[in-house]
Amino acid sequence: MTYPDTQLLIDGSWRAALDGRSLPVLDPATGAEIGRVAHAGIADLEAAVQAAHRAFADWGRSSPLHRSDLMRAAARLLRGRVDGIAAMMTAEQGKPLDQSRAEIMAGAEIIEWFAEEARRSYGQIIPARVPGVTQLTVREPLGPVAAFTPWNFPINQAVRKISAALAAGCTIVVKAAEETPASPAELARCFVDAGLPAGVLNLVYGDPAEISGYLIPHPAIRKLSFTGSTPVGKQLAALAGLHMKPATMELGGHAPVLVFDDADVDAAAAAMAAAKLRNAGQVCISPTRFLVQDGVADRFTERFIAAMAQAQPGPGSDPASQMGPLANERRIPAIERLIRDALDRGARLATGGQRLGNEGWFFAPTVLLDVPAEAAVMNEEPFGPIAIVNRFRQDDEAFAEANRLPYGLAAYAWTRSSARMQRLQEEIRAGMLTVNHIGLSLPELPFGGIGDSGMGTEGGSEAIGAYLQTRFVTRKG
Ligand code: NAD
Repeated sequence: MTYPDTQLLIDGSWRAALDGRSLPVLDPATGAEIGRVAHAGIADLEAAVQAAHRAFADWGRSSPLHRSDLMRAAARLLRGRVDGIAAMMTAEQGKPLDQSRAEIMAGAEIIEWFAEEARRSYGQIIPARVPGVTQLTVREPLGPVAAFTPWNFPINQAVRKISAALAAGCTIVVKAAEETPASPAELARCFVDAGLPAGVLNLVYGDPAEISGYLIPHPAIRKLSFTGSTPVGKQLAALAGLHMKPATMELGGHAPVLVFDDADVDAAAAAMAAAKLRNAGQVCISPTRFLVQDGVADRFTERFIAAMAQAQPGPGSDPASQMGPLANERRIPAIERLIRDALDRGARLATGGQRLGNEGWFFAPTVLLDVPAEAAVMNEEPFGPIAIVNRFRQDDEAFAEANRLPYGLAAYAWTRSSARMQRLQEEIRAGMLTVNHIGLSLPELPFGGIGDSGMGTEGGSEAIGAYLQTRFVTRKG
């Protein structure tokens, strides 16, 4: 695989930025430059918005069946190209090849799910009070969408937004992450090669703040979808609100893991360590705050630490690596700061805690024990391979701690008691709760948070609704 330079996709053409600017793309396993990505300026952004606006005239009126057929063709192309795209994703993002491959295959499934949903955006006929009156609702696409996707899942984050928008009949301008540009560009290429009309899908890179500041207020843009950190999400949602545009926000999390004294402790330790190591912990639903009941705390902690300590970090291109490097260099000081702060406040380091080697951005899987609630890592999303293991005595303590933060994305729990499961279901304030297994993130399931973790869902039967608006018509005769 030769890692490509990435161009902008505007109005059906792949091209450089009009002013010729580009940014370096670095391999997180070595820190070396492997390619360049075009850096859009305002003139490029305007061209992308105008293309999305023009294309909406036909795409928004096209039949759902037509859109669905085209999307299925794109999904087939994506599956067929999995090996080449996976190699690019691993080169730019760092994750092990099998994780890149799984993300791409899941992306094809997401396209297919939304291709089906396109055909089911039903309106309603509402019984009238008066004879001869017909009352009906029409669901129609909102219009051109501005979407912002991050670097942790370069395809997954983009494919959810692109598929929902296209299925609904919206056109879209996507700003994908500058750190990981090639794999989302290959995703876009599958749609183009499947026959998507020019301008329906546009892809840009550049200065994130400049792009959001230009696209969100633009009169032709009718909807915002953003995945990233809570502070940036709040700024962008405020800007969307100022211009009366609906926004889907998929933001940060700080997932609690409740392990009760009747849990299958060995299964919990193994599954949760694997989940923590996935994508080097750079996952918004990554399990982070482990709350383990006294009776099983020693056993769970020992198994969990062993699983974390045994994991083999290494370049994603090496099949022996179980965890790749962090995706960008700025995560290293961010994580070091959180660990130092926790230790200064009395936490204990069970394993890891430091950067590995002097090439690339590898960080050891880290477990912190007995971390006080005021430590920064107990309150800020670590977004790296760090787990906190604290103990509790009474169930109520665990529920209170799980719900302490303003975040509410994913929550995990392990118990054999159906009474506890019922209580978890009623009390845990999270957009997604998974008990005794890891069952999140399939295309047919809701995916989204509550509170500071965002608003809206990017999966399941409700997701396409975020790209549609409802009009009501009543007529007599
Ligand atoms: P960041 O907040 O600078 O950026 C996060 C993402 O938002 C990036 O993709 C970035 O390009 C984009 N972004 C930043 N400012 C923007 C703006 N003004 N307009 C539009 N887009 C903007 O942080 P980072 O250092 O890249 O990542 C670290 C933090 O981001 C993590 O701690 C995590 O909380 C969050 N994050 C969350 C997800 C997720 O899946 N929810 C993904 C990536 C990052």
